[in-house]
Amino acid sequence: MTEPGGLQRAARAIADRLYAGALIVASTGAGMSRESGIPTFRGAEGVWRQYRAEEVATPEALARDPAWAWEFHDHLRALVAAARPNAGHLALARLERELTPACAVRVITQNVDRLHEAAGSSGVVRLHGDILRVVCPRCGWEEGDYPVPAPAAPPHCDCGAVLRPDVVLFGERLPEDQLEEAFALAETCDVMLVVGTSVVVEPAASLPVMAREQGALVVEVNPEPTILSRAVQHSLRGTAGGVLPALVEEVLRLTQELDS
Ligand code: NAD
Ligand code: ZN
Repeated sequence: MTEPGGLQRAARAIADRLYAGALIVASTGAGMSRESGIPTFRGAEGVWRQYRAEEVATPEALARDPAWAWEFHDHLRALVAAARPNAGHLALARLERELTPACAVRVITQNVDRLHEAAGSSGVVRLHGDILRVVCPRCGWEEGDYPVPAPAAPPHCDCGAVLRPDVVLFGERLPEDQLEEAFALAETCDVMLVVGTSVVVEPAASLPVMAREQGALVVEVNPEPTILSRAVQHSLRGTAGGVLPALVEEVLRLTQELDS
């Protein structure tokens, strides 16, 4: 758990950085949605032991054994379709609602669920796509809300090709426009919250480093220490749903004090 007073110190440091026009960015990973019932791949709670995500969620697996790749993705799609935002998603949406228009609050996520949007966050930068959306790699057909479970394993397009979930698979490039926006936000933010990501894959790993180097305050929220923990100003040990509501509450209380 977070050391006593750690949360208050982090909240004070965040409030001290806020001014009219300030930008707060939250960079979130799979841990953000853990308390919504979607397991992470990595970390102590990673519960995908029956599948090795780095093997099954790849373009090679989809080409060689599409039924197996679809079985894995449909398993995750069912969890995503049933999930609701948790207290952490709601806290980030509340921060945006209550600080706008004085400050801007933006979310960059590696998650393929829609839980930030469902909680009310706007302008979410999606680095890894959307698993409920399906695209045809041959003819370009796409469906935003493809049935869960898919009608077949693997499902085919009318053109005959195997469809794919609209996600970035391991080893694939990230969408250029989303990547550019993420870097621009990291380069200009005043505060970055890094929530539920093991920070081992790019660009998730670079974003907090860029933010820190350009002078932003970086606050990490994760139940486990990461390679980032010692490099940032505040590292809070706890879950997204446990820490973010209290952190946001305290930041909003302190910024109100500043106003009056
Ligand atoms: P990851 O490497 O970022 O690891 C997850 C991190 O979450 C770990 O550091 C872990 O300590 C932390 N964590 C666990 N429970 C938490 C909690 N309750 N609150 C805060 N942090 C918590 O991500 P990954 O699991 O290796 O996933 C790799 C990729 O797979 C993701 O980037 C994403 O594209 C996809 N994925 C998406 C979802 C989703 O959309 N919800 C879920 C799993 C995986
Ligand atoms: Zn097609």
